[in-house]
Amino acid sequence: MSTHRISVISDNDVLTGSVRYSPSKSLWFSAMASGALIGGACTASWTALAVFVLTTGWVLLFGHSLGSHRKLIHNSFQCPRWLEYFLVYCGVQVGLAGPLGLLRQHELRDFAQRQRHCHSYLRHGESFWRDYWWQVHCVLRFDREPALQLEDRIADNRFYAFLERTWMLQQLPPALVLYACGGWAFVWWGVCARITAGILGHWLIGHFAHNHGDMSHVVRGAAVQGRNVRFTSLLTMGECWHNNHHAYPGSARLGLYPGEWDPGWWVLQALCLVKVVWSVRLPSDLPPRPELLALARSGSPCWEPQRNVPPAWMLDSEYGNWQLEGPAKWLPISILQAVARGQFNLTTGPRLSLRYGGRTVAGLPALAASFLLARGALASHAWLYSCALAAERMRIAR
Ligand SMILES: [Zn+2]
Ligand SMILES: [Zn+2]
Repeated sequence: MSTHRISVISDNDVLTGSVRYSPSKSLWFSAMASGALIGGACTASWTALAVFVLTTGWVLLFGHSLGSHRKLIHNSFQCPRWLEYFLVYCGVQVGLAGPLGLLRQHELRDFAQRQRHCHSYLRHGESFWRDYWWQVHCVLRFDREPALQLEDRIADNRFYAFLERTWMLQQLPPALVLYACGGWAFVWWGVCARITAGILGHWLIGHFAHNHGDMSHVVRGAAVQGRNVRFTSLLTMGECWHNNHHAYPGSARLGLYPGEWDPGWWVLQALCLVKVVWSVRLPSDLPPRPELLALARSGSPCWEPQRNVPPAWMLDSEYGNWQLEGPAKWLPISILQAVARGQFNLTTGPRLSLRYGGRTVAGLPALAASFLLARGALASHAWLYSCALAAERMRIAR
């Protein structure tokens, strides 16, 4: 807890305060909702609806989930500065707050929810409509404001400070572009309706993710547990796996078990493939938490390295037994089976590698060699051997 960005003089500091009406927050939402309802109703069309769906999906996926949450707040993956700024800018487009305001809200909730007792504002503990009023139109004013310590990468960042001062105005550039493309219809649907959906969706998922839904883990001693809200994974871009997030806040992957769809994670993997994202943190990279209790459930976590399993694909060829090992997790097993046309077992490992005799070739050459071998395209053992050897020399030379 000492490493948390929030620091308090007494634990009661995040417990005592009063919920007050916030004119700026309430008017911002009401203005957007009115624009969406009135303007949107007058200009409804399939094209406008498509603009709404595309812009909302874009800012929730790239902005809120990847930019604001997984990158800015949790720093759960590394990427170039330009990409970080782009993602966080998309996050500001959700229209909830500036980047620093959002971070502060997140940290306060996270800190308060880990305590034994938590203010019902911070744990979504009130009835549905009261929670709506509180979260969408009010703020919690503490009797003694907790301190927020920001690391240098955020505290000294002038771009984030600029976005914080101007976050409402940042809706103007997309509004102008949308107006130029499709007139007022695109503005009502691509800006007002998008922001309304973002604010309402953020409250709704926060309400359900702390009250209803299943759990894979319990954080012992915490006032409130996160819940996994099934069937909303595509709408929330994976943020609905909130029980997983309470268990492993620093993990870039939120859907941790088979069947837990996580679009944000899919995109991160694609960005890893094109090498603009790296050092992606998983639960296995995080320090152990003694207070964390895993509940019994079917299926082992997707992220857990599998141990004590026979290594890799076993290919029997007329030239002997060939052993291919590696993750190749992004290739469905059906494709591998079709490729190899033989018997093999697939398992996870650090990277794809091909072993023969006492030698190992890793990476793409191994995949290519195994593919050719399996298709019978290799005329002789000697050809494959020299190909693999050349690849290995290249690897050693590097
Ligand atoms: Zn939570
Ligand atoms: Zn978080």
